[in-house]
Amino acid sequence: MKVIKVGGGGGIDYEAFCKDLSTHQDFVLVHGGSALLNEVSQKLGHPPRFVTSVSGHESRFTDRRTLELFNMVYAGHTNKMIVEHLQRLGVNAVGLSGLDVRLVEGRQKTALKVIENGKKVVLRGDHSGKIQTINAKLLHLLLDNGYVPVLTPPAISTEGVAINVDGDRFAGQVAVALQAQVLLLLSNVPGLLKTLADEASLIAHIAYEDIDTYIEQVAKGRMKKKLLGAKEALSGGVNKVVLGDARGAGPVSAALAEQGTVIG
Ligand code: ADP
Repeated sequence: MKVIKVGGGGGIDYEAFCKDLSTHQDFVLVHGGSALLNEVSQKLGHPPRFVTSVSGHESRFTDRRTLELFNMVYAGHTNKMIVEHLQRLGVNAVGLSGLDVRLVEGRQKTALKVIENGKKVVLRGDHSGKIQTINAKLLHLLLDNGYVPVLTPPAISTEGVAINVDGDRFAGQVAVALQAQVLLLLSNVPGLLKTLADEASLIAHIAYEDIDTYIEQVAKGRMKKKLLGAKEALSGGVNKVVLGDARGAGPVSAALAEQGTVIG
């Protein structure tokens, strides 16, 4: 079993990605949608707001309106666009968000402790949370009957409220729940780069015990979450994580052949 996550950054050709994906078997797909959400939020007069937690992680402040836009873009546009591509390629894809059948359940954070202008501030009204359980029974039901799950955040809280959760950590937990051999996290960079501006500075391998050092010293912004997702997947029993490039030709095949940053 493989769990493959394709990002939502700019520059990804989803048609080409799906074409390569359709040549593989035995996988679950998870996707993102952040670049389009930023664009749509801007256009609809509710610009994105990013905050940095006291532990140094950047995240999207998700008020109720943002959550509605999130559902529109992730579960509405991007999920169905990918399902359409896959169906055209003969893959019997079924698109679900973490809300459906409580596929991905978590705990809503009541308050966000962030740093703003150098000061600690507590923000309320955020709809985000931490994943606690994955409905593996539903995934097995689909997989055992030949359907290919195409999954997207948001998740659902215990109280039944939609919560924004990080897509890489979502994919990591799905990989753990299915005891996948490999987790591919594909985005719009070749992998973890020593210098962000230099695509040739790819770090080819990271040992499990060094992940924290790379989170602190090399990864910036959202790349930190990818490494965190990788760490959680490996500690949960997944054998290998590859951070790869979703933009080129044959991105899934390339990542399975370990082109990118191999972790574990
Ligand atoms: P996705 O939406 O595809 O999951 P993100 O855009 O959230 O992906 O994360 C990938 C981004 O992380 C890259 O586009 C890049 O700008 C950023 N990044 C930060 N630090 C690094 C790094 N050291 N190496 C590679 N990418 C990095």
